[in-house]
Amino acid sequence: MASNPFDLTGKVAIVTGANTGIGQGIAVALAHAGADIALVARRDPEETVQMVEAAGRRAHVVMADLSSIEPCERIVSETVAALGGADILVNNAGIIRRNDALDFTEDDWDSVVDTNLKVLFFLSQAAGRHMVEHGGGSIINIASMLTFQGGIRVASYTASKSGVGGLTKLLANEWASKDITVNAIAPGYIATNNTAQLQADEDRNRQILERIPAGRWGAPSDLGGAAVFLSSDAARYVQGHILAVDGGWLAR
Ligand code: NAP
Repeated sequence: MASNPFDLTGKVAIVTGANTGIGQGIAVALAHAGADIALVARRDPEETVQMVEAAGRRAHVVMADLSSIEPCERIVSETVAALGGADILVNNAGIIRRNDALDFTEDDWDSVVDTNLKVLFFLSQAAGRHMVEHGGGSIINIASMLTFQGGIRVASYTASKSGVGGLTKLLANEWASKDITVNAIAPGYIATNNTAQLQADEDRNRQILERIPAGRWGAPSDLGGAAVFLSSDAARYVQGHILAVDGGWLAR
């Protein structure tokens, strides 16, 4: 083990949805810990590129639409070709659709489950195949409070994030013996595009803040430490864990 077990120097991390929000926060934190980063995005992640480079690390952009599994193998092969490896995968890209269960459409179901769950699995498979051949690695899935709770008006999101919790444990069971750690981070209420609608709704915003023991929305940078830990040698024996980073929401 390195003298600093949290040091990611020499590692390459793939972060999906890295142009904004939590993905950007995690990409920058991993870069500050020493990793080079493949930024997977469907829009130019220029700001994140600059932040990774300002941390002194290499950034490589992989343009990909994660609404289908089509780009999964290319994301891994392009990363390996550009940065020389693929040691860490952060499955962060995700979407949410809000509607009453009585009115929920098939499109609102399929698009959320495809991106949040199906692509997460097949990108993990592509990365896992590479990691098995190259001495192991770390996979971090971005779960949710709705991995544990039911939520309301977000049927496909709850189904997908509950599924992420199950898949995290399944992959940990299958791959622990291959020196691949598979864990998840469950963010609480984080101020990003994903929650803009909630933040803008005065009543919901107040109700949410009253229920968070920390008394504030989280920032994308609040997720960085957990991501560095789960990517690092410090977490080599941590498997199938879902780490809540939620200002105390679940403890309430
Ligand atoms: P966000 O700012 O909307 O970020 C979502 C990211 O996923 C964006 O980079 C988005 O790209 C990308 N993405 C979505 N669909 C994609 C597709 N088809 N192809 C490529 N990229 C795609 O929201 P966020 O809050 O940071 O969300 C990141 C993750 O955290 C999600 O999995 C979300 O479910 C999870 N999460 C968030 C919260 C929260 O409170 N914010 C809480 C729990 C879990 P574009 O910018 O191009 O749309």
